[in-house]
Amino acid sequence: MSSSDNHGSATRLIHAGERPPAAASLTVPIYETSTFVFDSAADVEAYAAGTKPAYLYSRYDNPTVVAVETKIAEIDGAEAALVFGSGMAAVSTAIFGLLEAGDEVVCCAAIYGGTFHVLTSLASRFGVTTRFASLDEFRTPEALVGPKTRMVWFESPINPTLRVIDVRAVATACRAAGVLSVMDNTFASAINQPVLAMGVDLSVQSVTKYLNGHSDVTGGVLSGRAGLIGRLAKTRRLLGGILDPQPAYALGRGMKTLTLRVARHNETALAISLALEGHAALAAVHYPGLPSHPDHGIAKGQMHGFGGMVCIDLKGGQAAAFRAFDRLQVFQRAASLGGVESLCSLPILTSQFGLSDEALAKAGVTRGMMRLSVGLEDAADLIADLIQAIES
Ligand code: PLP
Repeated sequence: MSSSDNHGSATRLIHAGERPPAAASLTVPIYETSTFVFDSAADVEAYAAGTKPAYLYSRYDNPTVVAVETKIAEIDGAEAALVFGSGMAAVSTAIFGLLEAGDEVVCCAAIYGGTFHVLTSLASRFGVTTRFASLDEFRTPEALVGPKTRMVWFESPINPTLRVIDVRAVATACRAAGVLSVMDNTFASAINQPVLAMGVDLSVQSVTKYLNGHSDVTGGVLSGRAGLIGRLAKTRRLLGGILDPQPAYALGRGMKTLTLRVARHNETALAISLALEGHAALAAVHYPGLPSHPDHGIAKGQMHGFGGMVCIDLKGGQAAAFRAFDRLQVFQRAASLGGVESLCSLPILTSQFGLSDEALAKAGVTRGMMRLSVGLEDAADLIADLIQAIES
């Protein structure tokens, strides 16, 4: 039978006026629609009464979005997940959905800048206070919680120093005190660090980074117990931060290679760290997978792999870091992280921009630091690129 016969018999299966059976698509279709059609008033009524599940409106839910949420929930070991149009939409929905006036958040002082500003510039206007605690204070998490504390928020590994917080210890202390633990797992992802299994109540991630992995989607996700996620689903409807179907599809496609990508990011970042550690031009290489890292013991106890982020500190300070940055040929000079292309950014021009020397010292950040997001290129090419740049 020729291939044209095949086409012929396939078309003959569908007769005029007959509806084809539902298509069993291998990949998730993009439901590019803002609204959904009902057959009857009875169906709308059943949907509204909650007796017949259906889709109503894409700001609430959409099948392409639900498909990627189901996938992330499985990866995160969560009962449910919600995706958003950015990591910051996930962060702000968690804060406004779970806190009320009079509540206190205890937040690690070393936190993503956007989260810091939501807490200090927005949530503060609605009566939510934030107490920032140092990394040292997070070492004794039982002492973190005060009478008004409702939530403890932290991330690990921390940007850009890659210091590590003991996730289980914080989650356990929060549970004992009856407060919510919220952990931003963007840098590790659940592949390297399954934080919900360690007792964290709510996981936050910017899917813009490792989950999508191709630097072509901006999005975020919250995952956790069904009850908590159900409350946040209502907040998401009101704040309107749901991800659109098109990027939800792209995110699902990117995630098909998440485990493979993360394994390669881990391997290459470790290879780079080992190759550069002790280089005469460097004051330090910060990578949780190095035995010399101050938190290596904690990292080993909670991470399956140590991630794709490395921070190198040049002895020559700011001038040397700027010079090396300009000379990079394989690493691209760009913010963000977690994609297939290797990126480099200078913390003093991005996350720590404008900070005084005193504030930088408090954050453990130096003017000579270069933050590397290690991509999927050949490890030898990346190492050679960094060496030629720092030896300039
Ligand atoms: N959390 C962390 C740790 C981040 O690095 C970022 C962004 O860089 C965010 C949250 C915010 O994510 P988005 O940029 O997708 O809004």
